[in-house]
Amino acid sequence: MFENLKSKIKIGNVTINNRFVMPTLKLNLCTKDGYITQRDLGFFIARAKGGFGLIFTDEISLDNVFKVDPYGPNYSSQHKLQDIQVLTKSVHKYKSKIFASFCQPGMESCQTVTDKKFPVPSIEFRYHSIRQNVLTDFEIKKVIRDFVKATHFSKEAGFDGLCLNASKDYLLGAFLSPFYNHRDDQYGGNFENRFRIVQEIYHEIRINLGVDFPIGIKLSICDTAVPGRTFEETKKIAIECGKLGFDFVMIIPPFTPDKRISGSYYESMPKENTFEDCKEIRRSLKIPLMLTANVSDPRIGEQCLKDKVCDLVAFGKSGLADSDFPNKVINNHLLDIAPCIHCISGCSESLLLTGSSKCVVNPFLGNEEFIKIEKAKNPLRIGIIGLGLAATSMALYLAKAGHSVEIYHSEDKIGNPYGTYGQNKNEYPVFLDWMLRQYKKYKVTLHLNSSPTPKEILAMNFDRIIIGYGANPYKPTIKGIDNKDVYPVEDLFLGKVTAGENNVILGSGYQACEAATFLSDRYKQVTILTKNDYLLSDLDGLPNPEFTARLFQSGVSFYRIYQDPTITRHSVIFNIKDRRLMVLYDRVFYATGYDNMVPVYNQLLTLGYPKDNIFIIEKKGNVGLSAVEGIRVAKLIQ
Ligand code: SF4
Repeated sequence: MFENLKSKIKIGNVTINNRFVMPTLKLNLCTKDGYITQRDLGFFIARAKGGFGLIFTDEISLDNVFKVDPYGPNYSSQHKLQDIQVLTKSVHKYKSKIFASFCQPGMESCQTVTDKKFPVPSIEFRYHSIRQNVLTDFEIKKVIRDFVKATHFSKEAGFDGLCLNASKDYLLGAFLSPFYNHRDDQYGGNFENRFRIVQEIYHEIRINLGVDFPIGIKLSICDTAVPGRTFEETKKIAIECGKLGFDFVMIIPPFTPDKRISGSYYESMPKENTFEDCKEIRRSLKIPLMLTANVSDPRIGEQCLKDKVCDLVAFGKSGLADSDFPNKVINNHLLDIAPCIHCISGCSESLLLTGSSKCVVNPFLGNEEFIKIEKAKNPLRIGIIGLGLAATSMALYLAKAGHSVEIYHSEDKIGNPYGTYGQNKNEYPVFLDWMLRQYKKYKVTLHLNSSPTPKEILAMNFDRIIIGYGANPYKPTIKGIDNKDVYPVEDLFLGKVTAGENNVILGSGYQACEAATFLSDRYKQVTILTKNDYLLSDLDGLPNPEFTARLFQSGVSFYRIYQDPTITRHSVIFNIKDRRLMVLYDRVFYATGYDNMVPVYNQLLTLGYPKDNIFIIEKKGNVGLSAVEGIRVAKLIQ
């Protein structure tokens, strides 16, 4: 089984042990200056240990000004060399290979990092809110030099190869695309001119690093907008790259430049077309082709290799959800793989909101070096009351550590305890099935339809009690809240209610903003009303003006209100500073937090239960953070 995925392949002169690729992903785990951190290192070591034959770094910026992520890597300074060598050596220890991915993000640069104008081939008027600097011929030469400078110590640092990111609307991708590139000089116009910058960068890097060092290019398969880059042109670029001497091509799904849409778009894209297109490109290539198309099922990956769609398959999100993904596939432990459910609630778009990449199903992500399951010296009897997401992962963690864990859950089945995942595909039950299998394996006892009173909890004589529930949406006490078209926001994510044409969202935290994105991506009108001065006030991650700006660009309105609004049959009436306003609605969604369980905690204390033996899980605004919260509390007990 999986003979193709298990087989070796050569990229240039470098032998890759199998066809599992951990592609470049947004991690945001470095320091502000782009230095590697222990968390960053831990992430890559875990994937190497987990069996990935080839691992890519996250996007390395050419300088510390134009970066994809505020905490993304930047290796421009020589004194970072030793740190990078530690990284590459650590990965090599597990027989994996590591390639560096270099990127000049152009108009995708992070707005919080710099107030400089973003480099672009030509002004793109549709993105009027983005500060753009049309590169002069002189500045293009500087970009070429920057690439050379940034990549020049790749070999010395121990990387096995490198990749130039020319996908999407990153600078090189923008030069390649007629949608962005309207220049009439030697870098614009016909295909040869648009391709010139890639060609020049390649030549310079090749001279610097020698013929033996694998160099690849990342391309979107096409731009979906007109007049964007067509599939035929991508094929031509790939062929030209092969002729130039590139050692591999990496293909990612189509890019939609006319709507700079969220990661959710990629999650929901049909992959079949990309497969067919890749197959056609591959037929024309003499160098390996890697496919990065959100493949998470190893059987599909295997089939792609069999069908000659590609030569290597990236399992990015799967590798986030389970760092041991390749080893579990290779050893045929498929049912043990923690499944990526394509929710993008912890990684992708929400990344900047939560500080660094998080995963709903993998609370260890980004903390692999710090949170390890250690066998408990004194195994305890632990009772978990209620099953929110934090408690779900916590129960497994504690059971793996050797504790005896019992869960009491008020529902008749374990279900989606938090209403924001599965906004693209409802794959959450796949995760629940996996969790139930894990509970069985690690002997977690699950009592369904069970809501013990504090007295009953006390009588059970647990060594430790964890108050894990509190996932009921808090209903604000405002006039009209019980009207027909007023719903908790999670009903929208759970598909219990459809979006309206005119939606009012009460609240400004993560859930409210996620709902606003969800609705505006579907071209619905959205008005956010909140008593907070700014959006995303409930997150403990980084500030994210990009996200807020994007909401406004999508036409979302935001009002800071000073008193509770009134909901009438068709409108919401509210006061801003000096005016009384009204907005019509056909749906109102409240995203005003969750009931907390402090009363249960207090009653247990009143009944004499020792304070030190009782733990309460804090409610988090994001599911990724929620999973981490479960592990935080579990660590306190361990
Ligand atoms: S957060 Fe969701 S989409 Fe991202 S890796 Fe985890 S399960 Fe997959």
